[in-house]
Amino acid sequence: MQLSTPLSEAISTKKEYIRALSEIGLNTVEDLLLYFPRAYEDLSEFKGLHEAKDGEVITTKGFLQGIKLIPTKNRKMKLVKAMFYDQAGYESEVVWFNQPHLLRTLPMDREVVVSGKVQWSYGKITLQSPVVEKSKEIQIHAGTTVPIYPQHDVITSKWLREKIHPLLYLAKELPEVLPEEILEEEKLMPKALAVQEIHFPGSQEKLEAARDRLGYEELFLLQLRSLRAKKEWRESRPEGADDSGMPLDPEYVKQFFATLPFTPTNAQKIVIYEILKDMEKPFPMMRLLEGDVGSGKTVVAVVAALQAVKHGYQVAIMAPTEVLARQHLISLGKFLEKYPDINIQLLVSALKTAEKNQVIDALANGQVDIVVGTHALIQEGVSFENLGLVIVDEQHRFGVKQREVLVKQGSPHVLNMTATPIPRTLALVAYGDQDLSVINEMPPGRMPIETKIVPPEHRQAVYRFVEGRIQKGEQVYVICPLIDESDVLDEVKSVKKEFEHLQTVFSRFKVGLLHGKMKSEEKEAVMAAFKANEIQVLVSTSVIEVGVDVPNATVMLIEGAERFGLSQLHQFRGRVGRGKVQSYCFLYTNSSSDNTVARLKAMTDHTDGFMLAEIDLRLRGPGEVYGVRQSGLPDLKIANLMNGVLLDRVRKAAESFLERSAA
Ligand code: ADP
Ligand code: MG
Repeated sequence: MQLSTPLSEAISTKKEYIRALSEIGLNTVEDLLLYFPRAYEDLSEFKGLHEAKDGEVITTKGFLQGIKLIPTKNRKMKLVKAMFYDQAGYESEVVWFNQPHLLRTLPMDREVVVSGKVQWSYGKITLQSPVVEKSKEIQIHAGTTVPIYPQHDVITSKWLREKIHPLLYLAKELPEVLPEEILEEEKLMPKALAVQEIHFPGSQEKLEAARDRLGYEELFLLQLRSLRAKKEWRESRPEGADDSGMPLDPEYVKQFFATLPFTPTNAQKIVIYEILKDMEKPFPMMRLLEGDVGSGKTVVAVVAALQAVKHGYQVAIMAPTEVLARQHLISLGKFLEKYPDINIQLLVSALKTAEKNQVIDALANGQVDIVVGTHALIQEGVSFENLGLVIVDEQHRFGVKQREVLVKQGSPHVLNMTATPIPRTLALVAYGDQDLSVINEMPPGRMPIETKIVPPEHRQAVYRFVEGRIQKGEQVYVICPLIDESDVLDEVKSVKKEFEHLQTVFSRFKVGLLHGKMKSEEKEAVMAAFKANEIQVLVSTSVIEVGVDVPNATVMLIEGAERFGLSQLHQFRGRVGRGKVQSYCFLYTNSSSDNTVARLKAMTDHTDGFMLAEIDLRLRGPGEVYGVRQSGLPDLKIANLMNGVLLDRVRKAAESFLERSAA
């Protein structure tokens, strides 16, 4: 028997089980050993029946007698009964539901360990559906701390315990993946032992040590991978490439600041400095810029672009949608009004072929300095004469996987921008291969958006209030939740229903509709109409990018607010409050659960996106908040992503390990 032995040979069981194991990715002995419990039940202390309270789960030793099947009126229900006598001679009735096989399999008239819930009734004790195990030296189901594995219909925890226990000795064959010196420095348990202890812990202390060790390993390998990717990116420029860098010219930046209608915040100045310093270097930057909605990321991007153009490089700016790309083009044009020599072009699929080709040619021969488009910009074989900087706004951040495309373009500097406030420690996990800059301050003079939770009985009153705002010439967004991720059609149906409903509520005004099934020209037309105030109320699904800046929109209504995370609600809310008048956000909910109300109340109490993200993380955990897949967060089995101190330590250990191994 080896770690690589297929489970079909290693354990004797039915084909059905082997298939079920394979479905959850367990094919070899090694896979099984690395399938960790999600929890434990402490059944380590034996108790006498008479010591148990009503409703308590106890573990007790004794023997079973007189097992039988009891006929019931309901023919579908099969009741198995027996008597149990504990070591002190107290007795109880034992019942199991729908497990007739127990008649054959339960050990009678010999010492057993029984774990189950006690019920007292009129001085009589009943044990309900307990787990029974022959009493022996090593207990695996009771009389010990019992592992509970992830819930599965076929593969039960009891079954897994039975199959894993006899294979556990093979854990010693598992290779040690952590370097010797780290094991010593961090006083970590060896891998083999940790795997044994995590399944069948000898004590609470050993269990904790095992979890620490395995969690550390997850984070360490993750950080190692990030750091290696970072190094690889830095060294990705071809031999002999131009590495003169783009020296920072403070005067040039000052001149640009002088053209602005506002003074940059300190936070903006700091991140600008970090970015421009990176661009001086002879290796490509890979930096993530985080800043809440409205924190002023655009101007930061413009300064970086200026720096590149000044040194004769081209810049590509990419947005998630064409609508947003067009908007970037407009704001870029405004910011760079005083720089008429800089040639800025739009490249999106909606352009006519001739226009497109013209831009593509001009990019290839270096006439275009800055090109704005969607993500397709770089991927569809567009070539640049001298691409020096790529700026990505939201969604399609360049991670490790997409780097190949960039390498083909000569590994330009990359600035990824996001409005999702990810706390620094989490960013280290999700984007450990990038450097991080954070704008942690909003431009002064922003009026906080008044936010209210609206219970069902106040719905009409809010509609009347909103009508008043529209009469004053202001506009409204209505967001409807995604009912079921898997069913886009249902979602479209529900948003259409809401759309019809609101047409009667706001019958004197024009109501518009946006949803994911619309063609992109249709969407653009609706957005354009909203921007021009031809539509006053825009009903939209949550999946639609409503990122277009409409300063005249002052009211955000969110239906089914309890279905959203705080970070998401905060993003929606950021769509209003962009103009000079007071803006409002109304959170509709039919839920009156304390939990929901407390969560939504955070929205009324806080305006800071980072603060809301932290609260959200505490309440729901990182996977829920950011979505494991889209955020780039790893799916870790054991490590706690919220443990910032540990994360920092692991990061440092991985860094020094890499240094040592490079030396
Ligand atoms: P975001 O970070 O969401 O992309 P923007 O760059 O669109 O934010 O900035 C939002 C608005 O704030 C824009 O109108 C921008 O001109 C303005 N702005 C940016 N920085 C400042 C500042 N330091 N002071 C005042 N207004 C600013
Ligand atoms: Mg922006």
